[in-house]
Amino acid sequence: MNEQNRICVTGASGYIASHITGQLLASGYRVRGTVRRSPGDYPWLTGLPGARERLELVTADLLREGSFGHAVEGCRHVMHTASPYALDVRDPERDLLEPALHGTRQVLEASLASGSVERVVLTSSIAAVTDEPRSGHTYTEEDWNERSSLARNPYHYAKTMAERAAWEFMERRKPGFDLVAINPTLVTGPSLGPSLNTSNAMLRDILSGVYPALMDMNWGFVDVRDTARAHILAMEIPEASGRYLCTAGEMTMKELVGLLRENGYGRYPLPRADLSGRAGTALMKLLSRTQPRHIGTFIRTHIGRTIRVGSEKITRELGMRFTPPEESILEALEDMIRQGHLPDRRG
Ligand code: NAP
Repeated sequence: MNEQNRICVTGASGYIASHITGQLLASGYRVRGTVRRSPGDYPWLTGLPGARERLELVTADLLREGSFGHAVEGCRHVMHTASPYALDVRDPERDLLEPALHGTRQVLEASLASGSVERVVLTSSIAAVTDEPRSGHTYTEEDWNERSSLARNPYHYAKTMAERAAWEFMERRKPGFDLVAINPTLVTGPSLGPSLNTSNAMLRDILSGVYPALMDMNWGFVDVRDTARAHILAMEIPEASGRYLCTAGEMTMKELVGLLRENGYGRYPLPRADLSGRAGTALMKLLSRTQPRHIGTFIRTHIGRTIRVGSEKITRELGMRFTPPEESILEALEDMIRQGHLPDRRG
């Protein structure tokens, strides 16, 4: 039955989307994935079980007008994941906002024009929920990031504007399909493709001496395979609606580094000095001024704060159960070593 359901996955080459594509094929769906280069450049997609019979790759670009018409034509559902994921870019408007915002509008317009699309699942982010966590508050689907701008956390701004534009489109155009958004926290775990995702790169940086000291910072984490499953459940469960925060739980930088030490990563240049106290936070805020602009802003808006993200809605309505962050992080590291992104210095 799934064979008759064609699903469009935008940005199929990406870290999260490759797993979505793999899981859709494993469930028997036909998938039309959009990519930017020639289909032959994506062996990790074309080699997936079921790909030969049921995966089609077509080219589309978020910035090219009319690019997605062919991609969504005849599809029952659309997973819109394509969007640049980078914290530090040269021109935030050109490199982040335009593709995120214009791309989302294009995909929704194309879905409307198709007449076949019944649901669009949008990959949004915790970045559209907050860019400056309020300690003591548990974030829910009601929370929106209202502080980012092109000058302040532009990736967060682009994701917020794109998700807002999607909901506004639904309100204004009243299309015959519905929209569900998935808002993952920091996604970790093994990668099907060869490139290193921005989120796993943060783990690599912690193991590579990029962070000389422990900072008072924490992150919400979610496994990439769970994130993919959440997208598919959001597509399949008829009652799914609105936004879903997608998270397995939080870890502080101190806990993360402790996990790495306890699991054989003690010979890597891990942060040693402990600057996670109040004085350390004040010092790190000063030092953040020496960092590239957007990294510095990110540090200043996150340091000394504790994020807590609720997963009540996604567990109740989609039945999601999450891999513990520790497991996902350790698997991500093994995968990075296997793929050559990290030297093997384990004891
Ligand atoms: P990724 O591996 O960098 O994937 C991004 C995808 O978007 C790639 O397929 C990329 O294509 C495509 N893309 C970028 N610019 C494009 C353009 N102008 N036209 C067409 N395609 C374009 O990152 P990811 O982590 O899987 O991110 C996927 C989605 O998840 C994004 O919307 C991101 O904001 C969101 N997200 C990620 C995380 C996380 O921690 N990883 C957390 C929350 C939300 P190329 O391969 O050609 O570059």
